[in-house]
Amino acid sequence: MSTGTEQSKAWFDRAKTAIPGGVNSPVRAFNSVGGTPRFMVRGEGPHLWDADGNRYVDLVSSWGPMILGHAHPAVVEAARTAATSGLSFGTPTIGEVELAEEIIGRVEPVERVRLVNSGTEATMSAIRLARGFTGRSKIVKFAGCYHGHVDALLAQAGSGVATLGLPTSPGVTGAQAADTLVLPYNDLDAVRKSFVDNPGEIAAVITEAAAGNMGAVAPAEGFNAGLRELAHEHGALLIMDEVMTGFRVSRAGWFGLDGVAGDLYTFGKVMSGGLPAAAFGGRADVMAKLAPGGPVYQAGTLSGNPVAVATGLATLRAADHAVYAALDANAKRLGNLFHAALSEAGVAHNVQYAGNLVSVFFGETPVHDYAGAQASETWRFPAFFHALLDGGVYAPPSAYEAWFVNAAMDDEAFSVIEAALPAAARAAAGAVQ
Ligand SMILES: *Cc1c(COP(=O)(O)O)cnc(C)c1O
Repeated sequence: MSTGTEQSKAWFDRAKTAIPGGVNSPVRAFNSVGGTPRFMVRGEGPHLWDADGNRYVDLVSSWGPMILGHAHPAVVEAARTAATSGLSFGTPTIGEVELAEEIIGRVEPVERVRLVNSGTEATMSAIRLARGFTGRSKIVKFAGCYHGHVDALLAQAGSGVATLGLPTSPGVTGAQAADTLVLPYNDLDAVRKSFVDNPGEIAAVITEAAAGNMGAVAPAEGFNAGLRELAHEHGALLIMDEVMTGFRVSRAGWFGLDGVAGDLYTFGKVMSGGLPAAAFGGRADVMAKLAPGGPVYQAGTLSGNPVAVATGLATLRAADHAVYAALDANAKRLGNLFHAALSEAGVAHNVQYAGNLVSVFFGETPVHDYAGAQASETWRFPAFFHALLDGGVYAPPSAYEAWFVNAAMDDEAFSVIEAALPAAARAAAGAVQ
């Protein structure tokens, strides 16, 4: 239960004089829900504690990475051991080979992997590689999908871009935007038409393997397979962005659920274990175009950082079948609780899943694309969010985000959620547009 927010308030005021908006990533500022962002000081298992001493059940899990819960002993130990052996060398290391092999061993279409420092860097590099490999400029992306803050991929992006209602961003040039074709998600006809209208010009189609950045919106039956077919028919590559779904929705990410192979993949979040690490990979013939073997340049001073690699590897090694079963069960249990509380309060809603990503859309209509997400009753969300927060549940502070369960959630954590939900559902019912 919330005992106050004075410390968080004071730190947020101070942060705003040093950091733009007081945050290092926009959605953390609570702009779309209002109120004071909580400054977290500690995490353990399914819980976070803020600077005022409030405890929360964490349903953000650092936006995905913490599938094992916070401060998992094996992961902390791996980080400690790696750190005591030196923080960074700028040379090849053994750990980065092992992490690359772990990824390749899990996701069959991935034959080669390069490690980078963020999901943004992964998608930026995959796009450059796709352009270098095909000799083409244009990229197809889908409205509501978020691929990091890469210039060319910000157009109609999900996540914080959706939260702030931005069509794109000042600072992205017309030329960069012109090479990006933005299409509705789950609409294969639009993709077909785009290839016909831009013959020989499209280097790649990039898609979230399952959309999680406009809320959880799974691909329609046959959508991913259709993308692969169309891309290949027209000499383009399919880039599966699994930064969010990778190693979370199954051992092999979304590929493990639908088996549709991309030519290139991007990963981040879970594979980092919570430190800055990400990756892109895929077909050996495409990856062979990367420097130093090929002409497409890509590099990084801290790429494959030994501590980040050790943390990621320890996380993946601990993420066994039992962990994935727990994530799936916890997502279902959470979704069922949402459904029960909102039904009881008479709030029209859709609990949607993309694997074990969950979200709640308010309104009657199921959401299949970004237009649908925007048409939902997002104005009910701030009241729902704040009532949960007051009840000790830390939800994603935006109507356009998925909720991330972790495997450390226990009956006690669920009892906190269950106790907080009726008031949250009533708050959502009473919200006014
Ligand atoms: C989070 C995310 C990214 C960006 O990753 P960062 O590490 O935040 O740069 C890219 N793609 C998807 C699908 C994501 O969810």
